[in-house]
Amino acid sequence: MDKHTKPATMFSRRNLLVGTGLVGVAAATAWVWPKKWLPLLEGDKAAKTTHELFDRGLVPIKNSGWTMPGGVQADYPTLENDITADIVIIGAGLAGTSLALHLAEAGVDVAVLEAREPGWGASGRNAGHVLPVLKDISVLRGFLDEGKGFLEAFREHHTIPFDLAEKYEIECDAVKSGYLNAMTGEGALEDFKAEMAYLETSGIQKIETVAGSDMEQLTGSKTWSHGLIYPNGGRVNPYLFSNGMAKNAIKLGARVFGNSEALDIEPIGKKWRIRTSSGSVTADRAIFCTNAYPTGIVPEFADSFYPLTAYGLTTKPLSAEASAAIMPGGQTLAQVPVDLNPLVKDRHNRLILSSIPQTAKPEDAAWHFQNQLNWLHDVWPETRNMDIELEAYWTGRVGMRDVEFPGIYEAQPGVYGLMHFNAWGNVMAPLIGKLFAEGVATDTIDQLPFPIEKAQPVSNPGKQDRNIRQWMIPAARQAQRWGIL
Ligand SMILES: Cc1cc2nc3c(=O)[nH]c(=O)nc-3n(C[C@H](O)[C@H](O)[C@H](O)COP(=O)(O)OP(=O)(O)OC[C@H]3O[C@@H](n4cnc5c(N)ncnc54)[C@H](O)[C@@H]3O)c2cc1C
Repeated sequence: MDKHTKPATMFSRRNLLVGTGLVGVAAATAWVWPKKWLPLLEGDKAAKTTHELFDRGLVPIKNSGWTMPGGVQADYPTLENDITADIVIIGAGLAGTSLALHLAEAGVDVAVLEAREPGWGASGRNAGHVLPVLKDISVLRGFLDEGKGFLEAFREHHTIPFDLAEKYEIECDAVKSGYLNAMTGEGALEDFKAEMAYLETSGIQKIETVAGSDMEQLTGSKTWSHGLIYPNGGRVNPYLFSNGMAKNAIKLGARVFGNSEALDIEPIGKKWRIRTSSGSVTADRAIFCTNAYPTGIVPEFADSFYPLTAYGLTTKPLSAEASAAIMPGGQTLAQVPVDLNPLVKDRHNRLILSSIPQTAKPEDAAWHFQNQLNWLHDVWPETRNMDIELEAYWTGRVGMRDVEFPGIYEAQPGVYGLMHFNAWGNVMAPLIGKLFAEGVATDTIDQLPFPIEKAQPVSNPGKQDRNIRQWMIPAARQAQRWGIL
C-alpha cells in the first residue's frame, strides 16, 4: 500500500477538467495507444517534420510567446565531468526548479540535469493561468489524515508563484489579478459555488460572486451573466518563473546544467549514479521531474500517464482601444463548464489564448488563431474593426492522470518522481517541489501530507489525446458555433 493512503479506493474519477480550457475526459474507451505515440521516447526522437513536432508538443521553445521579447535563456553549462551531490534532480520545469530552489535554501547540495534548457517543457509553454484551487477536493479524503495536512499546506502556499516572485524579485509578470470563472445563468453559478465552497470553509480564500452589470463591467462583454472570482488567482509568465527559480537556486549554491540529458541510472551502493553523454552525478537520491516529457530511463515514469497535446498563442500587443475593450477588469478568464478560450492579458498588453490543436493540422497557426479571433469578435463585437494580430503559436504536452492530483512516486528506494500536474502546474508543481524539498531536507519524506505511490502503467495512454482532440474539442467547437456553449 502507498504511504499515507487509505486502503480503500483512493481517488474518484471526474469527467470534466475546467479552468484552463484544457478539457479532459476520463472516459474508458477501447482506443489503443496510437502508433505515433509508441514508445514515447523513441517517438519523440523520431519526430522531425513540422507536423510531428507540433502534434507532439515538441516545437522549439523559442516558438513560445513566453520567451518573447526577452529570448531563450540558454546560459546554463553542460555537465562535463563526474560529480557528486546530495540530490540530483532530472528535469528543470516548475517542479524541478522549485525543488532545487527550496533544497538549496535548506543548504542541501543539489545538482539539476535538464535535457534542453530550464523551462523547455510544459513550463515554458503553458497558458499562464494561476489557479488557486484544487480540482477535486474529494481526492484528499483518501489520504490517511483525510487531506487535513495537504489542505493546510495548500491554504498557506496556494499563492506560491506570487510569493516566490516577490521574495526572490523574479521578473515574471506574476500578478494576483484575480481569476474569473465566467458563466451564463444562475444555476451554473450555484453549482459552481457549491463545488468551490471548501475554499471558504477551509479558510483558503473568500470567493466573490459577480452578476449582471458588474459582470459586464469586469469583462467588457454581455456574454456572461454570472461569475466567480478567486481573488488569490491571476497570471504568471511560466517560462520566466521557471528560469527565475533556477537562477536563484544557483545563487544559493545549486548546480544547474542545460543540454545534459540523463541517459541512465544505476545503483552505486546506497547511492544512484545518473549518466549524461559527457558526465555523471552520483547522489543519495534522484528525483525525476520530467512530467509529460519523460525519457525511458525509469520506465514507470513514462507509461503512467496520459499525454495530451495543447497549444498556446500570443497576440501582438493590443492597441489601447482593444485592451480597454477586452477584459477591462484585468482578471484571468476561464469559462465554465467548458472553456475553449482561456484568456490572459499580460504586462505587454498581449492576449495569451490556448486550447487543444486539431489533430489534422496542429501546425496550422493561422487556422487556430482565426478560431480564437472569431470567438473574440463574438464576445467583444467592437473588436471586429480593430487589428488583433498573431505574434506566436506553439504546442506543448500536458500529463494527465485518472485522478486529479499530481503523481508523487517512489520507483526504488531513493528514486522519486514528482510529475503529472495536468493543466494546473503553475501552483501545484512549485508547491509539490517545495513540500518535497522540505521532506528531503528534514528527512521526513514519510510524513509528507500526500501519498507517495508506486507509478502504475495506464492501460491505454493514447486515449485522452485521441478522445479529446479528435472528438470532444471538434464537437465543443461546433457547439460554440451554434451558440450552445
Ligand atoms: C499548452 C499548455 C497550457 C497549460 N496551461 C496551464 C495553465 O494555464 N495553468 C497551469 O497551472 N498549468 C497549465 N499547464 C500545465 C503546466 O504547464 C504543467 O503542469 C507544468 O508546467 C509541469 O511542470 P513540470 O516541471 O512538472 O514539467 P515540464 O515543465 O514539462 O518539465 C519537464 C522537463 O524535464 C526535462 N526532461 C525530460 N527527460 C529528461 C532527461 N532524461 N534528462 C534531463 N531532463 C529531462 C524536459 O526537457 C523538461 O524541460 C499547461 C500546459 C500546457 C502544455
